[in-house]
Amino acid sequence: MTSVITHIVLFKYKPSITWSEFEAHFDTFLALKHKCVKPDTGRPYMKSMKAGKNRSWEDFSKGMTHGFVLEFENQDDLDYYLTEDPVHLKFSRDAAPLIEDSVVVDIQDGILFAPRFKKPAMKGGNFHGSCHCGDCTWTAEITTPQHILCHCDTCKKLGGGPFSMNQIIHKDQLKILTGTPSRYTYTGASGNPVHCYFCPRCTSHIYHHQAVMGDQIIIRTILLEGGSKMQPGGEIFAEGKLGWVDALRGVLDRVTPEVKL
Ligand SMILES: [Zn+2]
Ligand SMILES: [Zn+2]
Repeated sequence: MTSVITHIVLFKYKPSITWSEFEAHFDTFLALKHKCVKPDTGRPYMKSMKAGKNRSWEDFSKGMTHGFVLEFENQDDLDYYLTEDPVHLKFSRDAAPLIEDSVVVDIQDGILFAPRFKKPAMKGGNFHGSCHCGDCTWTAEITTPQHILCHCDTCKKLGGGPFSMNQIIHKDQLKILTGTPSRYTYTGASGNPVHCYFCPRCTSHIYHHQAVMGDQIIIRTILLEGGSKMQPGGEIFAEGKLGWVDALRGVLDRVTPEVKL
């Protein structure tokens, strides 16, 4: 039985992108075949790549404009490509604003009945964080990369959303690389001060420190690179959860905003 995985990706590019943006993106994509290397061997591991524009006269493309067919020796190689390879991850980040929609299917030739592969657990380590304007950047060392949701009223006020996404880490595990966060202090429910640190220019909330927590601080996990791929691992102040939060998933129509946010 073959272990080779064929990773099929279809993209629909945004009509607004310029030719030079597209060309640069395409060149970078094609170069992944040689630039994606395994850290232990330093050798490329993508077996093959085919790429091109959809030329089908049939009316079944669902608006997808380009197709990419990549082959990997096995699922471990594909997992590394999708979740760890820094070259591919940077490419994905840069490509995201150019792509309106995509379809991804992975197949093994001849295997018609089999469960889906399990999503690999995200590995712990140093995660890069940045605020909206980019003035403040930092790294946070996280052992278990997942979000702890907080439904308290303060988080709703500070973040303007239904909950915040957090991890508690030791203060030495956070390193501010650029920018100097401003501080806002309020009195927490315990009667002790809580210090909130945020970017003075764009107000993105980076972390906070409660006097009662000693050397532990609470960082906002959604501001970290890869944060949108982390799973929720728990929740606090669940009594404050808005009634519709659980029901939200999958019931809202997908809306493309008229204005670019
Ligand atoms: Zn900022
Ligand atoms: Zn909270």
